[in-house]
Amino acid sequence: MLAGKLPRVRRLIILDRDVYTAGNVATQFVRPEHVGLPKAVALAGEIRRWIPGLRVDAIHAQVESVPLGLFRSVDVVLAALDSKRARCAVNEAAFRAGVPWLDGGVSNLGLARVTVFIPGAGPCYECQLGEADYASETVFPCAPADAPPSSQSPAYLGAMAAALEAAELSRLMTQGPDPALAGREVLLDCTSHRLLVSRVRARRDCRFDHEIFRVRPLNGGLRGTTVGDVLRRGRRPPGAENGVALSVPGKWFARRLACACGASRPVLRLKDRLQPPHLACRRCGGVMRPVGFDLTDRLEAAALGPAARRRSLASLGLVAGDVITIRRGARAWHYELRNGEPMP
Ligand SMILES: [Zn+2]
Ligand SMILES: [Zn+2]
Repeated sequence: MLAGKLPRVRRLIILDRDVYTAGNVATQFVRPEHVGLPKAVALAGEIRRWIPGLRVDAIHAQVESVPLGLFRSVDVVLAALDSKRARCAVNEAAFRAGVPWLDGGVSNLGLARVTVFIPGAGPCYECQLGEADYASETVFPCAPADAPPSSQSPAYLGAMAAALEAAELSRLMTQGPDPALAGREVLLDCTSHRLLVSRVRARRDCRFDHEIFRVRPLNGGLRGTTVGDVLRRGRRPPGAENGVALSVPGKWFARRLACACGASRPVLRLKDRLQPPHLACRRCGGVMRPVGFDLTDRLEAAALGPAARRRSLASLGLVAGDVITIRRGARAWHYELRNGEPMP
């Protein structure tokens, strides 16, 4: 991710969930001492050495778990992802944040590709997905986030996709988020030596709503602000809280944990922010997991007891930069949390 005053890049944020393995040394630009290090951290160190003066930050995390505020803080997102699921997550975050994103990809058929998505101007990534694509990537939110199998593509294809992304980035930086670029796909076919340029069409029946959030800051501190405090913001005009709900777009709340030993206990925390101390089973010492039936994407005011209302936002796993949505019927208000705890 790149940020700063264009056209000069001043800040680079590298986000990746993986760790370098011995296998990467043979195929990627990795030194033996990097094995075991998060890829984001190792790469950030290298880039700092190559380009002194560039601010480079590394985040070792899944794209689904970072605060939406991170996307709102950058000018463009460059993605090199390995699954449709991860691409859908970046697509959602980039559109909510109103930030252009470039989707790079390779296939073992000898193809390297980049596609340009510009929120507010045309198609999104999901516009090109069909039912079969969703079916092949159906992952229940209670499932562990396993890495998809490697595409087995040669390293030069990845380098070509990166070069195509760099070329489109350069165009975006000089032209700005020109609607003429929206949906453009550049495909390099290395087996037939062809360069194909096409366009993804916006689809009316796209599963994703393409909405760019209008986000306001919510100051006051995550420890001092309770669930009840933010739900009251949905009472406009003032009145009952019927139909008011709190959600964190793109994220799920866990309401119950279960262990293989049969133990279970209630919990109320964002699924992606459950840390080992929350997950320890008190009966057998094993690791508890969120239960699928007890995952929810929203907390309905009408269903929350007094204890849940008194919970601070910090205790739900919310951190500074997270965006919360208060919804009442068709109306929604979005707030970015400030003055909170930084990401763990
Ligand atoms: Zn779409
Ligand atoms: Zn147990």
